Amino acid sequence: MHSMSQRVIVVGGGFGGLLAVRGLRRAPVEVVLVDRENFHLFQPLVYQVATGGLTTAEVATPLRRILRHQRNVRVVLGEVSGIDLDRREVTVDGLPNGGSGAVLAYDALVVAGGSRYSYFGHDEWREHAPELKSLAGALDIRERILGAFEAAEVEPDPEQRGAWLTFVVVGAGPTGVEMAGQIGELAHDVLRRDFRAADTAAARVLLVEASDRVLPAFPESLSTRAAHALERIGVTPLIGHTVVDVSGETVSIQAPTGEVEQVPARTAVWAAGVTASELATTLAEGAGLEVDRAGRVPVGPDLTLAGHPEVFALGDMVSVHTEGDEPLSLPGLAPVAMQQGRFAARTIRKRLAGRPTGSFRYVDKGDLATIGRSQAVADIKGLHLSGFVAWLTWLVVHIAYLTGLENRYLVLVRWTISFFSRSRGARLIVHAGAPARDPAGPLRRGPAERG
Ligand SMILES: Cc1cc2nc3c(=O)[nH]c(=O)nc-3n(C[C@H](O)[C@H](O)[C@H](O)COP(=O)(O)OP(=O)(O)OC[C@H]3O[C@@H](n4cnc5c(N)ncnc54)[C@H](O)[C@@H]3O)c2cc1C
Repeated sequence: MHSMSQRVIVVGGGFGGLLAVRGLRRAPVEVVLVDRENFHLFQPLVYQVATGGLTTAEVATPLRRILRHQRNVRVVLGEVSGIDLDRREVTVDGLPNGGSGAVLAYDALVVAGGSRYSYFGHDEWREHAPELKSLAGALDIRERILGAFEAAEVEPDPEQRGAWLTFVVVGAGPTGVEMAGQIGELAHDVLRRDFRAADTAAARVLLVEASDRVLPAFPESLSTRAAHALERIGVTPLIGHTVVDVSGETVSIQAPTGEVEQVPARTAVWAAGVTASELATTLAEGAGLEVDRAGRVPVGPDLTLAGHPEVFALGDMVSVHTEGDEPLSLPGLAPVAMQQGRFAARTIRKRLAGRPTGSFRYVDKGDLATIGRSQAVADIKGLHLSGFVAWLTWLVVHIAYLTGLENRYLVLVRWTISFFSRSRGARLIVHAGAPARDPAGPLRRGPAERG
């Protein structure tokens, strides 16, 4: 580490934080990156880990490896539990040596803690319907999905078998659509020949969406095409429906008429609603600000906190406001966080050089969502694509943006094999010991155990 006067602490090595760190590689500063995970996670492909398409190492890269050539950065593995804006100090708990309460001082701070899914006040559902936000969560979901097919194989009772073969995905945004599409393909194509007793093609995959169409953020024509593509691979979109209870044995779904159906389903995946990292509240409380309904802290046009020009907050956990204090509605997407991370680094560099700084402007390059093999939709600056062309675009963009050259090659090879063999290479049940796992989950509640 160089001995330099200015210290920049970056909290979070996700899309925003990592780009901020990289943007400071030639700046005369000492950077400390704090993350509670030792890896950068490429969230857009996490659903493929949850469905056995990719392995964990293909979608996550150790932060130390990514930053090994950047000499002015030190990576600290730990959880930021407090930020003292007046003293300009960050408190880090959960250190790998068992230590806690370590205090790090900063001259400039960049906070990019991201977000997680919101259970709309029903956190008890998390146990039965895990969210696809972390790598541990993806492994937990993979274990449940694969375990459900295994349970169906040994289940003599047809009704119970039906429950094991019913999958509910909550939320039809890009993640929910991708997840449901992958489960549909697993059941109706990939696994069909691998099981003897269970007819995996009889599986039901229900995609529950409260609004009036799938992919609500996309143009209507693409939503319609996505819904048809989903139906072709065995997914049933339940539009205008709401999940009102999740028990582990059933999912209660309310129709637009108000009628509630208790659907016997042993596997549910949550991909609805978003709430900002708790770091947003920490910052808001420290600066005397209020978070919005999604728990996001407001920041000014230059991404700094009111009254604290040395504190940048960005990515999923913030709501950017204009000079007139109007919130800009930027989507919770990786490109937004990446551009903001780059912007924060550029502003810090400019300040150090005594140059004038400006406001953040988002350059929207478009929206993509994949549905399954050779099927995707894309909205690129008003150009609407669907089917194979959109899928190829999706493929190229994801390979191009995937962190690490090694991972790009690995993923490309694996996708090529999967495309031609129609297989999924990472279909292992490893009991990853993920948190929030139902202690009476699929494998442990299976009939083999009861019998
Ligand atoms: C399943 C899924 C699929 C997605 N697919 C797409 C897609 O296809 N395209 C797209 O553009 N966007 C996609 N997104 C959204 C995109 O991933 C986010 O917009 C983006 O990750 C936001 O970047 P960020 O830097 O704000 O947060 P993140 O990338 O989430 O990074 C936050 C980091 O902060 C760390 N952290 C949090 N709290 C603390 C703490 N207290 N102490 C220490 N470290 C902490 C976390 O470990 C993490 O590394 C997807 C999101 C999910 C969940």
